[in-house]
Amino acid sequence: MNVYEYQARDLLARYGLPIPAGAVASSPQQARDIAERLTGRPLVVKAQILAGGRGRGRFVSGFAGGVRLCKNPAEVESVAQAMLGGVLVTAQTGPEGRPVNKLLVAEAPRISRELYLAILIDREHRCPLLIGSSRGGVDIEEVAQKEPDAIQRLRIDFLSGLWPYQARELAGRMGLHGSLRNQVVDVAVRLYRFFCDCDASLVEINPLAIVENERIAVIDAKVGFDENALFRHPEIASYQDEVLEDPREAAAAKARLNYVGLSGNIGCLVNGAGLAMATMDILHRYGGEPANFLDVGGGADLERVTRAFDILLGDPKVRSVFVHIFGGILRCDLIARGMVEAISRLQPKVPIIVRLQGTNFEEGKEILEQSGLPIRTSDDLAEAARKAVEAAREAG
Ligand code: GDP
Ligand code: MG
Repeated sequence: MNVYEYQARDLLARYGLPIPAGAVASSPQQARDIAERLTGRPLVVKAQILAGGRGRGRFVSGFAGGVRLCKNPAEVESVAQAMLGGVLVTAQTGPEGRPVNKLLVAEAPRISRELYLAILIDREHRCPLLIGSSRGGVDIEEVAQKEPDAIQRLRIDFLSGLWPYQARELAGRMGLHGSLRNQVVDVAVRLYRFFCDCDASLVEINPLAIVENERIAVIDAKVGFDENALFRHPEIASYQDEVLEDPREAAAAKARLNYVGLSGNIGCLVNGAGLAMATMDILHRYGGEPANFLDVGGGADLERVTRAFDILLGDPKVRSVFVHIFGGILRCDLIARGMVEAISRLQPKVPIIVRLQGTNFEEGKEILEQSGLPIRTSDDLAEAARKAVEAAREAG
C-alpha cells in the first residue's frame, strides 16, 4: 500500500529526517493560510496523487505542472485554485490521469544538487537494498537506464542491519565528502530504522536535495508498506480509507479480503489466489469480464463471506456472481451454510452461480439447493463459468 507524500512526510518526520516545513490543504483558502504561516520563501504547491512524475505532469485543463514554485501566499492560493478538483496526467498515471483533491504546501528551499536515496526489497537476494545516486531528480529513470554506473547499491543484512560505516561507504561511492557525506549517512540510517519499524516495502527519496548552506533536505518521498503487516500499524492502516481511491477496495481492505477491483461485470468470490486467477481466466475464455479479483482466503468464515458478498453485490456493475470454492481444511458444507446465511440476509437481485469442489462438496451442494435461494450450482468448472457469463450477458 502506497501512501500520499504528505502522509509519508508526517511519518518520516518522526524519525528526525530533514523535511521542509509544510502542511496539507484541500481548499485554496486553506492553502493560502498554510502559506502565510510558513516563513521560508519561495513556497511549493504539490498535487497529492499516488503517482510520480508530477513535476512534468499536466492537468487536463491545460494547467502545467503538479509541482509549482510560488513567490507568495497569493500565488499559492491561485495555483491551488487551478489544481484542486483537477485531473493530473503524468508519465505514471496513464492518459486518464488522477483527480487532485489535496495539495501539499511547503517551504521550498533553493536546490543546488539533487541526489537519490531509496530502500526497497531486493527479491532476488532476499534482503533490503539501499540505493543511492548523485544524479537524482526527475530524470532518474533515464540515468538508471543509460548510465547504470551512476546508481550505487548496497545490500543490507537483515540480522545485522545497516551500519553507519556501510552507509558511509555508499555515500562515498555517490561522490560525497565531508559534512554532506555525514548528513547522507545520517539520513540513510534513519530511513532504514523507519523502513524496519514500519514494515515498509519501499521508501524512495527523490530528490534528496543539497539546499542552502550545504544542508540536505528530503524534497519528495514515496513510501509503500507491506499490507500483510498493516495490522501492526493501526495508524498507517487508517490511511487506507484515503489512499484506496476505489471504495470497493477500501471496504475489502477493512474486511482483510484480498481484493482488486476490475472493470467487468461478473463478481468473483474464490478461496485461494491461484484459484481466483484460474477462475478469471476461464471467465475470459468464455467471453466474460470479471468485475474483480477476490480471494477470501483459507479461513473463509461467515463474517468474511458476508463481507465479500456485500462488496460484490454493492458494486452496481455486477450482473452475476460466480462463487468458486475448493474445500480443503475448510469444508464445503460450512461454506455453503455461510453462503446461505449471507445471501438470505442480503437478498441479492443478481443470479449467483456456485461451484464447490473438495471436502464435503456434495453436502455443500445439497445445502445450497435446498435453501430455496436463487443459487445455481454446477460441479463442472467450464459449465459453471459458462453459466456465469451467460447470466451476466442476459442481465446486462
Ligand atoms: P515528482 O515530479 O512527482 O517526483 O515531484 P517532486 O516533488 O520530486 O518534484 C519534482 C521536481 O520539482 C524536483 O525534482 C525539484 O526539482 C522540483 N521541486 C520540488 N520541490 C521543490 C522545492 O521545495 N524546492 C525547489 N527548489 N524545487 C523543488
Ligand atoms: Mg520526485
